[in-house]
Amino acid sequence: MPRYDFRCRSCGATFELRRPMAQANDPAVCPKGHGDTVKLLSTVAVTGAAGAQPAPAAGGGGGCCGGGCCG
Ligand SMILES: [Zn+2]
Repeated sequence: MPRYDFRCRSCGATFELRRPMAQANDPAVCPKGHGDTVKLLSTVAVTGAAGAQPAPAAGGGGGCCGGGCCG
């Protein structure tokens, strides 16, 4: 179940809720009882990242160390 972060504009508290996506836009109530909350963008990875992942830096040239250890 996705997790959503909320921030209370009354007391400034941030809290998170787990709720079905169908209720993602439902109003959330602050743990202290305030109803003036806003939903924050969370970093939950719901879908796979479509961006390119950084390729590992490959060492150029041959040789295991570039020094004298290989002979
Ligand atoms: Zn509050």
